[in-house]
Amino acid sequence: MKGGIKMIDEGKKTQTYKYIRQTHCFNCKKDINSQQYDECVDCKGIVCSCGSCFCEWGYSEFSY
Ligand SMILES: [Zn+2]
Ligand SMILES: [Zn+2]
Repeated sequence: MKGGIKMIDEGKKTQTYKYIRQTHCFNCKKDINSQQYDECVDCKGIVCSCGSCFCEWGYSEFSY
C-alpha cells in the first residue's frame, strides 16, 4: 500500500453557497445580483440600489 494518500478535508472549506442570480435593473440598467443586493420579499426580485424591483414593473406582466 502506497502512502501519501491524504484525506482531503473539503469539509473545512464548506461555505454556505447560495445560488447567485444576476440581472440588471430595469430602471437604471445597472448590473445587480442577489449576493450584493437585497431581494424583495414580495416579488422575489433583486432590489437595485436605486430602489427598483419587479413590484414597480408589474411582475405578472413581465415576460422574463
Ligand atoms: Zn437601479
Ligand atoms: Zn418587489
